[in-house]
Amino acid sequence: MILAIDIGGTKFSMAAFDGDRMVRRESRATDSAGGREWMTAQIAGIVGAWRADLRFEGCGIGFGGPVNFAAQRVVLSTHVGGWRDFDLCDFVADAAGAPTVMDNDANVGAMGEALYGAGRGASPLFYMTLSTGIGGGIVEDGRVWRGADSYGGEIGHLTVRPDGPECLCGARGCLERMCCGLWLQRDHGRSAAELLMDAAFVREYVVDLALGLKAAIMLLNPARIVIGGGISKAGDRLFVPLREELGRRITAWSKARVDVVPAALSDDSVLFGALALARSQLR
Ligand SMILES: [Zn+2]
Repeated sequence: MILAIDIGGTKFSMAAFDGDRMVRRESRATDSAGGREWMTAQIAGIVGAWRADLRFEGCGIGFGGPVNFAAQRVVLSTHVGGWRDFDLCDFVADAAGAPTVMDNDANVGAMGEALYGAGRGASPLFYMTLSTGIGGGIVEDGRVWRGADSYGGEIGHLTVRPDGPECLCGARGCLERMCCGLWLQRDHGRSAAELLMDAAFVREYVVDLALGLKAAIMLLNPARIVIGGGISKAGDRLFVPLREELGRRITAWSKARVDVVPAALSDDSVLFGALALARSQLR
């Protein structure tokens, strides 16, 4: 049995897998005021209850913030407090009674979609999570491309508006600042889901989104781009204008394909990726 954990800024989910089959799943809203202590108590409580009748041989975690993969440490969470340098793997390994491995949720979601979802058969794959924040992951031949220091794929902090508003990272006009759910809500006083019902809003929204994705296409020439996270659930209302805008933006001589699709695993991309991550470490 594999334990999979997805820790996000607005919710967290846990699942137990028997082979490729999800046999148990629990999801709760994140209490951001409760910070790390609240979250770790929740995780310990759920795992403790599951261990009454399940035995885990490994555990994978997708964390919603930068992770130093080599050191297996959370760098920080920009949305929830108290995580800096916390040894989450050690804590979960203790609770689950099994070896535990962690990566940031975008890399883990990328693995999930590449192996079990909309990215199957498409390599290299670029995955972007469009949610409370924005993250990116690159998978080639079933392996995450992390870069030299495990910070590869961070599309959220690409500059799309150099004189735009300040991002939580301190820079101006990052893709995340312009397009993520947290800032859409703060800037417009309405949720991303509501805003994306408005076709005129979407036409403007996809301009910045396409600027970010253009960089991924020009740098990586991915076989496919899969977009997950809550905002991607807008479906064709988002994806049709986004593909059109990308078609206009890609450099004229480039024949790089524009194959951009929503995630197939919906809320479970990261959980399936955590399954794959745990297995890759057990091998
Ligand atoms: Zn930023």
